[in-house]
Amino acid sequence: MSAVSDIKSVGVVGGSLGGLFQAVALAELGLDVTVWERSAGRPDDRGAGIVLQPGVAWFLNTFCGVDPDSVSVPVTHRQFFARDGRSHQTLMRQQMISWGAIYQSLRDRLDRARYHDGRPATALVPRPDGVAVHVGDTVQPVDLAIIADGSASRHRGLVAPDSTPRYAGYVAYRGVIDETELPEDLSALFRDRFSFYDGERTQFLCYFIPGDFGATAPGSRRMNWVWYVRADAPALDRVTTDRDGAAHGLSLPPGLIAPQVYAELLDRAQKVLPEPLRRLVELTREPFAQAILDGRVSRMRQDRLLLTGDAAFVVRPHTAASAEKAAADAIILFTALQQLPSLDAALAAWENNRLAEGDALYRHGVGLGQRLGLNGPVPASAAVSGQNY
Ligand SMILES: Cc1cc2nc3c(=O)[nH]c(=O)nc-3n(C[C@H](O)[C@H](O)[C@H](O)COP(=O)(O)OP(=O)(O)OC[C@H]3O[C@@H](n4cnc5c(N)ncnc54)[C@H](O)[C@@H]3O)c2cc1C
Repeated sequence: MSAVSDIKSVGVVGGSLGGLFQAVALAELGLDVTVWERSAGRPDDRGAGIVLQPGVAWFLNTFCGVDPDSVSVPVTHRQFFARDGRSHQTLMRQQMISWGAIYQSLRDRLDRARYHDGRPATALVPRPDGVAVHVGDTVQPVDLAIIADGSASRHRGLVAPDSTPRYAGYVAYRGVIDETELPEDLSALFRDRFSFYDGERTQFLCYFIPGDFGATAPGSRRMNWVWYVRADAPALDRVTTDRDGAAHGLSLPPGLIAPQVYAELLDRAQKVLPEPLRRLVELTREPFAQAILDGRVSRMRQDRLLLTGDAAFVVRPHTAASAEKAAADAIILFTALQQLPSLDAALAAWENNRLAEGDALYRHGVGLGQRLGLNGPVPASAAVSGQNY
């Protein structure tokens, strides 16, 4: 007997990567899985690139029947730029994937009837041997509930009170450019390369990723760039307030950047970036931005409620490990339920494992931010001028 036989139904709150990894793995165990996702319809795939780590590749291959090579773009070298535009390279093979390619692989694997979009969970109420999930006017009892509602989690407090993520003091500007819109000299410069520029308290990186939901044919790929820039809280508000004056809080979606913020971004690129990287920023039609957050919890389980993905630990993107961590949350739960004799033993072992890894990644990410000069207070002059990016 294994822990799997102690439960029949699982409810997953949040249908992005964290929730989908769990749903696919638990359905594989024969459990009756239901996913509730707040957003309606197919998500937009204009963002963004993800370094394909081994756990995600293994998950796609094993649980989704997807050859990771077929939905990712290889790089052979790391390329480091100096301010004057010269670069040197070191050998380092990696695969680059997109958020959309992972999402689509997981959705294709999960029975459509299990996934309910446009259906936010409003409350999770513990009950004897399970949890009642409130969605709209309905209440669905499940034996196990997984909270996968992301860094701004509404339900995190049921497991880990007082663990709201904090703003780390810098933003990631991001952009994607269709391969067909990239001049040939830039294409050749960045092809097969994971490129970096480490400047004064700033970092820029770029690489090719698959096009719409996993397309890798030449001409259908995209250039993906990320530029970390320090910004105090008022500057963050400014960046994430859109062209119509609407405030978006911790991120700015593509296509909405305010003209003045865009002008300052271009001006900053001119002043601080090597020429090939500046040109990428200039070629980007719809730059977007995300605040960098630090999120850490001391518990990931409260009886039959579990936290997963960014609802638990939010780690710095320099670790390139957010999606990997979410996949590992699901793989370890799958294994624990299969191998341990009782539900309680399985969930306890899972929580111990995931807390240790989440904490290690969290600290590693903060350390990388420190090494890049991105941590610490933003100079007052930057806050006053609003030119701090
Ligand atoms: C467009 C995009 C681009 C990304 N790019 C990168 C990247 O380049 N590199 C990287 O490592 N990571 C990236 N990430 C983050 C990475 O995907 C996540 O860290 C990882 O997949 C785990 O995310 P998550 O599913 O836990 O949280 P999220 O991706 O934040 O998903 C949470 C989900 O929960 C839903 N939700 C919220 N509240 C409710 C509710 N009450 N009821 C039901 N549903 C709810 C939200 O609508 C959302 O779909 C990206 C994420 C997105 C969405």
